[in-house]
Amino acid sequence: MTGKENAQQMEKIVSLCKRRGFIFQSSEIYGGLNGVWDYGPLGVELKNNLKQYWWQVIVRDRDDVVGLDGAILTHPAVLKASGHVDTFTDPMVDCRTCKARLRADQLAEKNAVKQCPNCGGKDLTEARPFNLMFQTQMGASADPASIAYLRPETAQSIFVQFKNVLDVSRKKLPFGIAQIGKAFRNEINPRNFTFRSREFEQMELEYFCRPEQGMDLLAYWLKERIKFYEEIGISRKRLHILDVPEKERAFYSKGTFDIEYEFPFGRQELEGVAYRTDYDLQQHIKASGKPLDYFDEETKERFVPHVVEPSAGVDRTVLALICDAYDEDTAPDEKGKMETRVVMRFHPRMAPIKCAIFPLLRNKEALVAKAREVQALLRPHMNVFYDEGGAIGRRYRRQDEIGTPFGVTIDFETLGEKGEELRDTVTLRDRDSMKQERVTIKDLPQLISSKIR
Ligand code: ATP
Repeated sequence: MTGKENAQQMEKIVSLCKRRGFIFQSSEIYGGLNGVWDYGPLGVELKNNLKQYWWQVIVRDRDDVVGLDGAILTHPAVLKASGHVDTFTDPMVDCRTCKARLRADQLAEKNAVKQCPNCGGKDLTEARPFNLMFQTQMGASADPASIAYLRPETAQSIFVQFKNVLDVSRKKLPFGIAQIGKAFRNEINPRNFTFRSREFEQMELEYFCRPEQGMDLLAYWLKERIKFYEEIGISRKRLHILDVPEKERAFYSKGTFDIEYEFPFGRQELEGVAYRTDYDLQQHIKASGKPLDYFDEETKERFVPHVVEPSAGVDRTVLALICDAYDEDTAPDEKGKMETRVVMRFHPRMAPIKCAIFPLLRNKEALVAKAREVQALLRPHMNVFYDEGGAIGRRYRRQDEIGTPFGVTIDFETLGEKGEELRDTVTLRDRDSMKQERVTIKDLPQLISSKIR
């Protein structure tokens, strides 16, 4: 696709997200809050499916990982020790012409001169560091000792609670602590829809190990994480692995891989998988004076564990799911004329709604009653949607556009009006092939469940 086509594709995606209720601009009726987004009825389902699947494979399916849900408000000493207070900055410049504040390392250059993307001006200030953390005040007093921060990443509460979790879980190395939650960064230029936001969610795992296991576990987790993206339906050909060169890595990291996705606006990071050595625990040991070490019962050694960290963004992955799923093909309309069909090809595991239920006609009581029965039968197993409004073809189209993988239609055959052998059977329609098969109602829960797990 050309740059122009990519931009058009992104416009269509953003507009579909709003029109169908995936993602809205936050505080929209007041003009919007820059870099902040609200997830609508379908967006929240998609996001929950992603988070639940991550939690399933990272925590519940494993013996060696436990979970944590840390607080967002963070003691300044934690973020001083981690280095965020002093060095969590991006370089910022001001445009003297239009007064815009810009991130210096993301400016386009013309003939080796940096330019303001807003006004094209070249009169820019020197770059200076801008700290990305949101600061707030705790309690009623305004003295400096009452400062707290909104966490800029979920990882730090894992390091700070390392000893407590180790004591209660009685895990042996290697083992991990996982967390999903909100993080906040006062990005200088939020952009590319939800990709760079000021409020976002992370899914992070800190996997603690012996120092000599670090490099092997880095390779192991990179492989596991790629597998995860494939399992949620992201095409492998749009995923890329960047082996971050030493000079671009954090000084304490012995190896970092960025997992990138080809968004319509370019190839960008979804997740970082980093071997962080024992840097974080050592920093907190130094600053707190508390022993965050590990005693190996077998070797009788006491040491500070090393850590491998796969750190993924929920919002960026949701955006990748949406971009990857978006497709247009052709399908016949009511009169059999071919028309463009927008179809979100979500993996059934991620799709916000798993099955739509349609009575063929809304004014036939027996059809509606049977459809409501099917809805009640499926509801305990999956998220379903009942729709009786409009021509059946249009109802299918509405579901295709939001990626519902299955559609069940209750018709006169279901009522036994076309022969006893068809009583209590329905048509099950597949979103991608648009093929319909006739199945027995009581088989539906098992049939569909096996495809959405
Ligand atoms: P970038 O270089 O794009 O700013 P980063 O390298 O600073 O990202 P990390 O600190 O490694 O990001 O955070 C881990 C993950 O958290 C990222 O891979 C991304 O998925 C997510 N993330 C970080 N910043 C944002 C943001 N502003 N908006 C949405 N997600 C984010």
